[in-house]
Amino acid sequence: MEFERLRADCEERLQLLRLPHRFNTGQLLKALEEYRGHPVKVKPVDTGGNLDLLCGMRAETPDGDILYYERQASQMHRNHIVAHEVSHVLWDHPGSLSVDPTRAASLGLDPALILRLSGRSVYTDEDELEAEYTATLIRRRAYLEQHYAPSDPQGADDRWDAVFARPLLPGPRKKGRRR
Ligand SMILES: [Zn+2]
Repeated sequence: MEFERLRADCEERLQLLRLPHRFNTGQLLKALEEYRGHPVKVKPVDTGGNLDLLCGMRAETPDGDILYYERQASQMHRNHIVAHEVSHVLWDHPGSLSVDPTRAASLGLDPALILRLSGRSVYTDEDELEAEYTATLIRRRAYLEQHYAPSDPQGADDRWDAVFARPLLPGPRKKGRRR
């Protein structure tokens, strides 16, 4: 897939979440909940090295989505895995892992309640590329937007940020004020 096309497609997909200007992982999950119309939880799982480093796992249950990340992952890595899993959900990438009692138990779920379970081994390389690039866009926005004012202020806080972010230009000098 051509890179420019990939980027445009991922940015377009990300628009569906209607993310606020500044957001953290909690707000990202909130945005996904609104998009999906049901709860989204995040849980750690001991993968024993069975999961790809960037890809976690996701389960669809009658109570909502559960996104899993490797328990040993650092906070930063964890945020990236969550962003990657959010991206798989956003793209609605197909693919289901088989659910056996052992696997369900490791996820803390009743096998009968798992509507779909997805992980790295069921995704195509193209799906992985889309999820990873979208995750990169999410992480980049989450980082950059903590430091820069919005170009399109939406609320009062954003507008203040935009005002203070403007470079200070010297105003016109007033005449006749010299002593
Ligand atoms: Zn993945």
